[in-house]
Amino acid sequence: MGIHFEIQQVSPGTIAVIDGQLASNASALLLDDYIVAVDATMRPDTSHTFRSMLEEKYQRPVKYLCVTHYHGDHVFGLKSFRDVTIFASAHIVGNMQRRMSTDWSPQALAARKKGDPTAAEWIDDVEFVFPSVLLHQGIDLFNKDRRVEFHHSGGHTSCSVYGYYPDEKVLFAGDLIFAGQMPFAGDVTCDPEQWMAVLRTWLNWDIVHVIPGHGPLTGMAEIRKHLDFFELLKKATLDVIQAGREPQDISMPATYAVSEKEQWLVESTQKHWYEFYKTA
Ligand SMILES: [Zn+2]
Ligand SMILES: [Zn+2]
Repeated sequence: MGIHFEIQQVSPGTIAVIDGQLASNASALLLDDYIVAVDATMRPDTSHTFRSMLEEKYQRPVKYLCVTHYHGDHVFGLKSFRDVTIFASAHIVGNMQRRMSTDWSPQALAARKKGDPTAAEWIDDVEFVFPSVLLHQGIDLFNKDRRVEFHHSGGHTSCSVYGYYPDEKVLFAGDLIFAGQMPFAGDVTCDPEQWMAVLRTWLNWDIVHVIPGHGPLTGMAEIRKHLDFFELLKKATLDVIQAGREPQDISMPATYAVSEKEQWLVESTQKHWYEFYKTA
């Protein structure tokens, strides 16, 4: 039992834990007096390990945790951080509540446990912890001349938040970046226009290191690639709508390879983009 994973240095003051077994990435910023964690990893046991590793290795407490958005792979592990100040977009509350009455109801989680033996190892330990600080636009944290910014952007979800540490040119992108893989753009609250807008903003910023929500550490080239993918997808979607055809007729750009197993990602994205642009 338990997953072993390593801390990876990103820049002098930032680290990430990136491991396929973790289901999602987590990261942290090391300030003089305390640590700011960004996401917690999915499972309660790995989030506990992540926090212990941070506090032992760097000998200072985690004081804040930024939750980049409401998806299960980013919030199921929050209980290990319940005594720190957790902040997120103000939109996260409604999004989590909606899921708790549907996909995350006790009945739905019990069904998931049955269908997925690895989930059975940890799903009973999940506790839904709500952030205590809610952002409408953003917040800066400041400690001994160091400043880190967190911005609400929406995009991947209506509650998507990202962090930027200008001193070391590090972007904490959350699921606004899926490094080397097709970004999941089929959430019911996904706003393609907001997502493209934030990618365009980043292209004008001084960014060297991108810590994605999924996949390995990356940089500016992946931001550009995501934007190209979305622009092509938007065009394909508008073409299909104009021709009076169906969501499944949207031809997905070939930017990223998609496996058979990930076909549902494609279908939910086609459906969502179709509805989004049809009513836009
Ligand atoms: Zn997500
Ligand atoms: Zn994710």
